[in-house]
Amino acid sequence: FKARWWALQKTKSVCSYCGTGCQLTLGTKDGKVLTTIYDENQGFHNGQLCTRGRFGYQFVNSDKRLTAPLIRKNGKLQEATWEEALAEVTSRLAAGKSDPASVAALATPRLTNEELFLFGKLFRGTVGTDNIDHSAGYAHEALTKGAVASFGVAASPAEIADVQKSNLLLVVKSDAYETHPVIGFEINLGVKRKGIALRIVSDKKGKLTRLPGAKTTVHAPGNEVALFNALCKSVIDQGLAVEGVAGLDALKAAVADATAEKAGVSAEEIAAIAKEFASAEKALIILPIGQGYPGHNAALANAAANLAILTGQVGKEGAGLLIMGEKNNSQGAVDMGIYPKGTGLNAAAIIDGCANGNVKTLFVAGENPVVSYPNRAKVEKALENVEFMVVSDLFLTETAALADVVLPACSFAEKSGTFTSLGRRVQNVRKAIPAIGLAKSDFEILNAISQALGGARYNNQGEVFTEIAASVPAYKGLTQAGLKDEGAVYPVALAAKLVPAAAKAAAPAAGKLALVTGSALYHCGTMSRFGEGPMYVCPDAYAELNVADAAALKVEEGDQVTVTSGTGAVQVVAKVGKRVPQGVVFSPYHFGEGSVNTITDGAEVTYVSVAKK
Ligand code: SF4
Repeated sequence: FKARWWALQKTKSVCSYCGTGCQLTLGTKDGKVLTTIYDENQGFHNGQLCTRGRFGYQFVNSDKRLTAPLIRKNGKLQEATWEEALAEVTSRLAAGKSDPASVAALATPRLTNEELFLFGKLFRGTVGTDNIDHSAGYAHEALTKGAVASFGVAASPAEIADVQKSNLLLVVKSDAYETHPVIGFEINLGVKRKGIALRIVSDKKGKLTRLPGAKTTVHAPGNEVALFNALCKSVIDQGLAVEGVAGLDALKAAVADATAEKAGVSAEEIAAIAKEFASAEKALIILPIGQGYPGHNAALANAAANLAILTGQVGKEGAGLLIMGEKNNSQGAVDMGIYPKGTGLNAAAIIDGCANGNVKTLFVAGENPVVSYPNRAKVEKALENVEFMVVSDLFLTETAALADVVLPACSFAEKSGTFTSLGRRVQNVRKAIPAIGLAKSDFEILNAISQALGGARYNNQGEVFTEIAASVPAYKGLTQAGLKDEGAVYPVALAAKLVPAAAKAAAPAAGKLALVTGSALYHCGTMSRFGEGPMYVCPDAYAELNVADAAALKVEEGDQVTVTSGTGAVQVVAKVGKRVPQGVVFSPYHFGEGSVNTITDGAEVTYVSVAKK
């Protein structure tokens, strides 16, 4: 960078990429973020950051940032003033108040808690609609339905600090190094320095599987619930279940025929994992959730929770279940209620509503459904059909390009507020630079709209936090000043009970490969695609095949291939190796062109054919 270290202004804040919630110090000068500064005294991670946190900040000062509002006139998006843009949006929402069911709103869990709280208040309270959701609905059901049913709270019973306090880690999926790299480092440290046992159940082999002593059980995609049910049955059959757990009889009946064979793994492996998990002094399950994992929903959270509860591995440090929300404020979005309750439409139903005309007004804060929701062709058609769409974002995303009004939003570096990590830690985000161009924070945007519609007015986001602390029970007693630099982990009162989880039988199609999606040092790409660091590490969309499948398909490393599902096709570069098992193809979903979500259908597993172009 082009400035002396000592000449930089330093601002402590929180990384805005993943749910790990690493703290960082931004080095800024002349309104630009020039670096992140390593500070070993900062955060649970002693200042360590992954590639995204360390080098992925360039998106903040990207010359592709939106710097002025845009309004569609004569079919084209044209620059407008804030007054014009907000007038258009508020008059549309004011009209929607008389027919709230025709209004829907999607927000990204990258916004601050304060922004998300205002978002919920504006749409639920002032406009009167419950058609509110985030991340295609995939990012929260494990918490809002799964964890609520199993533990009585919409949060993980475990914290990130429990990783290193455990004796045995049972990790679902093998790509923590790519989805939540600093948690990957924590696992690495625990395994190498403390001798923590590592067991992985995954549909492919990732970097984690190479750690010393790691034992990996590879299963067919979509078999996770069947596998956890088989583990529970084995615990019961081996006489290892703790006595007197609520729901034990119902669970016994539900898993009576949950054999290892049904999960597609060997009976010996199931028996061994069950025994080790039940016998460990402290055992912790690590479960990733998010848009890349359609099957990682409430049922899997229940199935995983059952194993922990059945073996007495909850309610003590180093044990339980850590549900790894994907984005920086996934947990906060749940805490602030950004999902449909009662009769409201979820994200998929909102898209359907746009397509069939029931949803006439759609407000999108930072989401990019065209790229990150399943079935791009369907989403694009629906968003082209909706009468009025407003998008606030940093960039003219594929979704913003279809909007009637586009509002330039601030990045995390240009605003203050709080994020809540996947470990329930509420942390201060601090403004480090002024807004880029005419951009406004989503707090300012939502506050202005709310006021124009007769809702509450806030002088600053701190006032919203005070209201959060008064109305969200988990945040009771928290103050922004009290969070200081280290933040605060909010407590959970667990009411653990066994909840039977139904395994859906995977239905492989002859001659097709099971498509596994996920992250490759990326999240939805909205920010990371504009960061040189992540783009250097992983520049192109790809499809990764097992050597045997590649040979059968006459595909070699680097070939252009077409991946075709029932809903469409994408062209990507082939990778060939042994990380993915036979019968499976892996592709990251975060790229605009070649995004594999273009062709997923929202089912647990999408089956595809792969052919050399
Ligand atoms: Fe940021 Fe997540 Fe990397 Fe930490 S692990 S630096 S929060 S992207």
